Amino acid sequence: MRIDLHAHTTASDGTTSPADLVAQARAEGLDVVAITDHDTTAGWDEATAAARQHGVGLVRGMEMSTRYRGCAVHLLSYLHRPDDPTLVAELEAIRADRVGRLRAMVANLARDYPITWDDVAAQAVGARTLGRPHIADALVAKRVVPDRAAAFADLISSGGRYYVDYYATPTDEAIALVRAAGGVPVLAHAGAATRGAIVPDEAFGELAAAGLAGLEVHHRDHDAAQVARLAAFAERLDLLVTGSSDFHGAGKPNQLGEHLTAPDVLDAIADQGAVPVLPPA
Ligand code: AMP
Ligand code: FE
Ligand code: FE
Ligand code: ZN
Repeated sequence: MRIDLHAHTTASDGTTSPADLVAQARAEGLDVVAITDHDTTAGWDEATAAARQHGVGLVRGMEMSTRYRGCAVHLLSYLHRPDDPTLVAELEAIRADRVGRLRAMVANLARDYPITWDDVAAQAVGARTLGRPHIADALVAKRVVPDRAAAFADLISSGGRYYVDYYATPTDEAIALVRAAGGVPVLAHAGAATRGAIVPDEAFGELAAAGLAGLEVHHRDHDAAQVARLAAFAERLDLLVTGSSDFHGAGKPNQLGEHLTAPDVLDAIADQGAVPVLPPA
């Protein structure tokens, strides 16, 4: 069984539609793929129809924007009820603040570069959640930078002069919200040093006590030391261990299936989740 539990679509900052994500998962020989767009489940229905058509197993999820003591933390939620009112309201608050924040970043950039809000909106057609990758795509379209990575290296980096932060739920509260909605919370790429401050050691016990189910250990942004560190915390705290690609279509080099999750871990996630896993044909 080849299982990849982290992928983005055009519902957030991926470049592949939900249907194409599933078709590509089939073409890559995956048995199960998860759709985990940032702060939205808007791609679920299209992905579900495609999964039935192609016979690909589907885990419906999302990647929630959270903050742990000032540190941006991405929390994967698998199999939560998508209509849970409290969670829905919180995701709406995050997405609304993301829009205001992106507008503020565009205003900052527009002082020095040829970019307007319409340019960014044109790159985000169909997206339910807006993010910096949509600014990056607008800068690429204007030939200011060659690709997303170049934009992130400088103009829109979190330490850069044009950067603006956005509201994200405290991580322990997000875990509680996800659990209350019947979801299975897993910390995404918690040892990714390239994204700024790393989650400190004391966070793991605290978040496990708050209801965390697992750690995404195997991910391209983790070096060997981080894989060992996260695996040790998972062992000590009895957390599930996942591995995933974090596929963003053409927006990142990450390839579907480059890291995988074990079948018994998927079984444990399925047991804890409120929404069924669509089985592979
Ligand atoms: P935001 O949540 O709007 O601050 O944007 C962060 C998103 O940008 C992450 O989810 C990544 O998918 C994407 N991202 C971060 N760094 C890069 C990079 N170097 N190249 C392409 N995408 C990136
Ligand atoms: Fe992303
Ligand atoms: Fe992430
Ligand atoms: Zn992701």
